[in-house]
Amino acid sequence: MSIHFLLSAQARTLSVLQGAGMSDDVAFVLFRHLRWGDGEEVVCPHCGTVHRHYFKASRKLWRCIACREDFSVTSGTIFAFHKLPLRIYLAAVILYWQGNHRLSEALAL
Ligand SMILES: [Zn+2]
Repeated sequence: MSIHFLLSAQARTLSVLQGAGMSDDVAFVLFRHLRWGDGEEVVCPHCGTVHRHYFKASRKLWRCIACREDFSVTSGTIFAFHKLPLRIYLAAVILYWQGNHRLSEALAL
């Protein structure tokens, strides 16, 4: 099992500017990793089915074979109806996580 991305050394050194400066393809891959780990256990947010879907690369959507619903990397999240590029939301996640992590460290003192 892979380590959770937010606990990895890569996440600790990722800056908000790096997140905001990523291409949308890289941000998509990172979002997928944040949500489903290594990306091989994508779970349908509509019915919870694992491994019964196919990916529509041109639209960056999965189609669940079990319930026939489409879903994206942000379906079922607060970013589900996003209109901005994924990299902007990624920067927000990094900012939130790093601020929360620093707050946790400060409170532990
Ligand atoms: Zn489904």
